[in-house]
Amino acid sequence: MANVATTISNTPEKINIKDLIVAQQPLAALCTYKTGGNADFLASPTNLEQMKALLAFSRQNQLPITILGGGSNVLISDEGVPGLVILTHKLCSYHVRGTLFCAQSGLSLETAINASIENSLSGLETLGGLPGTIGGAVWGNASTHGLQLSQLIEWVDYLTPDGEIARIHRDDDRFAYKRSPFMGTRNIIYEVALRLIPNKNTSEARLHKEQSRKERMDSGQFDHPSAGCVFKNPRGKPAGMLIDEAGMKGLTVGGASISSLHGNFIINTDGTATSKDILKLAELARKAVSDRFGIKLEREIVLIGRW
Ligand SMILES: Cc1cc2nc3c(=O)[nH]c(=O)nc-3n(C[C@H](O)[C@H](O)[C@H](O)COP(=O)(O)OP(=O)(O)OC[C@H]3O[C@@H](n4cnc5c(N)ncnc54)[C@H](O)[C@@H]3O)c2cc1C
Repeated sequence: MANVATTISNTPEKINIKDLIVAQQPLAALCTYKTGGNADFLASPTNLEQMKALLAFSRQNQLPITILGGGSNVLISDEGVPGLVILTHKLCSYHVRGTLFCAQSGLSLETAINASIENSLSGLETLGGLPGTIGGAVWGNASTHGLQLSQLIEWVDYLTPDGEIARIHRDDDRFAYKRSPFMGTRNIIYEVALRLIPNKNTSEARLHKEQSRKERMDSGQFDHPSAGCVFKNPRGKPAGMLIDEAGMKGLTVGGASISSLHGNFIINTDGTATSKDILKLAELARKAVSDRFGIKLEREIVLIGRW
């Protein structure tokens, strides 16, 4: 692999795996739905050596691995998550080289946008207010207002389950609307380089970011816990409109309801919803749209754990 501008290095470090892993950790506070059970084991690595040690440990003990970034696009099972959950939020360093903004996968989008503006780079402002991490956004090819994150990607360095480092480049044709080459694999996104545009007008960029963030806040997206859109938009009509027209707006199951503001949002109405309530409601919405329009909605939120 050409090691261009990456922060990956093999600094020797003595790692005591027991210091890294904690058993039976609640996950609800670590996701935006605020639902779900415990991780059998949880670890928050701070560098590549620790990440590799965790991968080796999970291989030796045959533990499945689940990666959690900001938890803003997942539904965690009430029955918990087997094996090892790796939380990426401590992998959050970044650097700038020319117009490349290079960030470890756990960097929050919020910090990435602010840091890129501080470094006179533009391109991320449209994502203002989008929750989650760079790694999660690459995994799901996050998009808003016509911008797909993949349009900005120069390369992505990732770890294979064997702990090998590999790289994909911007021209990888497996990126598409809400799709990335990482879906359906066990590869772990470690570092991402985004090609941005020089912009000395930092106040203009800050204003743009702030407008994007405010638009989200004003639309009520954050009034209740949710994970954003439950379904991807099919060709033609947006999923939210189909759900509304199928008469599902406002429907509730337990503590979950279909948002009265946006048909594609299922919210944890008063904080008492279970993940099971949310999934049941999503399945009812999917069935209603299928029965009414013959359209099979594809889930966008990711189910994690024992379902
Ligand atoms: C109110 C609200 C509004 C939203 N609006 C939008 C929107 O406009 N557009 C949009 O695209 N999304 C939107 N989302 C969804 C979400 O914010 C994005 O998809 C975000 O990019 C997910 O990042 P995350 O770090 O939270 O990922 P997580 O939820 O933690 O993880 C999502 C998936 O990515 C995987 N993953 C995460 N990090 C890594 C890694 N380092 N390596 C390998 N796999 C990894 C996880 O295993 C999981 O499968 C919204 C969510 C909310 C709550």
